[in-house]
Amino acid sequence: MSLRQNTNTQELLEMSIEDSKDILIEVDGMRKWFPIKAGMLSTVKSHVRAVDGVDLRIRRGETLGIVGESGCGKTTLGRVLLGLIPITSGSVRYEGEDIRSMSMSDLRRRMQIVFQDPGGSMNPRMSVRSIVGEPLQVNGIADGAELTQRVAELLDSVGLKKDHMNRFPHEFSGGQKQRIALARALSLDPEFILLDEPTSALDVSVQAQVLNLLSEIQNKHGLTFVFITHALNVVNHISDRVAVMYLGKIVEIASTRDLFDNPSHPYTHALLSAIPEPSLEESSRERIVLSGDVPSPANPPSGCRFHTRCPIAEAGRCDTEEPQLQDVGEDHRVACHFPLGKGQRLPVIHEDESVDEAPKVNLL
Ligand code: SF4
Repeated sequence: MSLRQNTNTQELLEMSIEDSKDILIEVDGMRKWFPIKAGMLSTVKSHVRAVDGVDLRIRRGETLGIVGESGCGKTTLGRVLLGLIPITSGSVRYEGEDIRSMSMSDLRRRMQIVFQDPGGSMNPRMSVRSIVGEPLQVNGIADGAELTQRVAELLDSVGLKKDHMNRFPHEFSGGQKQRIALARALSLDPEFILLDEPTSALDVSVQAQVLNLLSEIQNKHGLTFVFITHALNVVNHISDRVAVMYLGKIVEIASTRDLFDNPSHPYTHALLSAIPEPSLEESSRERIVLSGDVPSPANPPSGCRFHTRCPIAEAGRCDTEEPQLQDVGEDHRVACHFPLGKGQRLPVIHEDESVDEAPKVNLL
């Protein structure tokens, strides 16, 4: 091997070591199937394939948005990342370590979750001091006056006052409850927080405050976020990258700007076309209405799972051959046999079911 080749090999090795240092969570071929039981003996008849073969890298310090319709598997994926439910096959590694070999206390110290309904995740009989301070007490980190001091600091970091610690959850608004939930999630100084629809139950004005607070906290603590939502406008505001899920699979993943400017997957096009435009004038964007219902994850379609609703599906290929995620640009991957290029659009199906002629799609 020449000196230059040696140098190149060394450079590549250093680059890959550098890259791997930036990866906090690695997911490979991960499946989470739930059994469907029936009969007197509760025999397993089939499975709901909630997550069905996901490969994903979550980078340290980023916010990764995961979007998709209800039932696409995004919430199950989030729970698997935290080790809250066991996986069926594949692997999830946190800083290179398989999460199945990590203790629950270690996982909870390093990874936290904030739920959609903060009130539902709080005991109404516990004071804010007890709710926020409980993880510190349970892990033997602080007690007594030190605990009170730590809770006061945590409340201050999420924009609440020290006096709030003696109150109970019912005395707070939805936005304030979400701040309490965030203070609790921060109490063990985690590296990673899963945000599961944290703003969808809040008024729009409060949503903006909570999103800004999340950005502040992330910058201050160097946190990594996964933000699960069905609201693309929210994910556009807060995420560095976005993964789009459909029926248990990631169908497109890219930087937020690239995904919004140059969506490649027909499903992403349809999702983006449904975002309301802020203009009072008539929208310039035509909404793409997908035909048919979302198929059952217990019996997903063959080939591309989206082929039963895709306006550009090609018989003989899309219904038989499963597309794999492939690079279509810098840091942009899509699982489609016929990814759409820049400026291409899907045929629009109007309410009366008439279809505009589809633009020609260049095959990559
Ligand atoms: Fe549509 Fe075929 Fe692409 Fe699937 S693979 S999204 S059916 S064009």
